[in-house]
Amino acid sequence: MASENPFAGNPDLGGAWEEGYLAGFSDPEVEHFRPFSPDILEAYSAGDLAGRTDRRALPPDNGGVPDPAAVEESGGLWEFLVHESVESGLHLAAHKFFHDIFGQVGGLIPLLISVVQIPGDVQLKPMEDDWTGPVDLPEDTFVAVCPRNDHGPTEGATAEGYWTGPARQFFSEALADKMNHDHAECGVARCAIPDGDCGLVWPGTGQ
Ligand SMILES: [Zn+2]
Repeated sequence: MASENPFAGNPDLGGAWEEGYLAGFSDPEVEHFRPFSPDILEAYSAGDLAGRTDRRALPPDNGGVPDPAAVEESGGLWEFLVHESVESGLHLAAHKFFHDIFGQVGGLIPLLISVVQIPGDVQLKPMEDDWTGPVDLPEDTFVAVCPRNDHGPTEGATAEGYWTGPARQFFSEALADKMNHDHAECGVARCAIPDGDCGLVWPGTGQ
């Protein structure tokens, strides 16, 4: 089961822990660093370690760290992860909704509302922690999102310095956006219309 954020609800420390977690989860073989003040960096590093540990605990074919030979056989990491998403579906990344990232805009849900075309009668809500399902359901939209706030004036950057890719119909496209983005903190969000489920997703069942 996923690690809990010991700083949940604290906008600075909780957000740093979640950013670290996402960096560690998506890139588990590397120790990540950010030029934060000591207490924020401590929270970020604790999150990084938790994310790396949780990802490495997953079986390779359910979202864990793939064997390099399997990656090579697939033709690359993107190809491997897309293959896994088709074979095993998607799960809510780390079986948790990240509540403290994107704090300057009020969280992941307000950020997604600014990118994805949401019908007026649909209210986005966090996906269930144990959500797992098939990839690319017809009503799904996928968006690469990066919770770092140091993007500067670049395409996809928000006024607060966050970054999002375009809304995509297919997970594989948003995953490519994430992998073409320089930051390990970047994740892929799923929005399901009309039920309004949203959250960060990862290939495999996560178990
Ligand atoms: Zn970024």
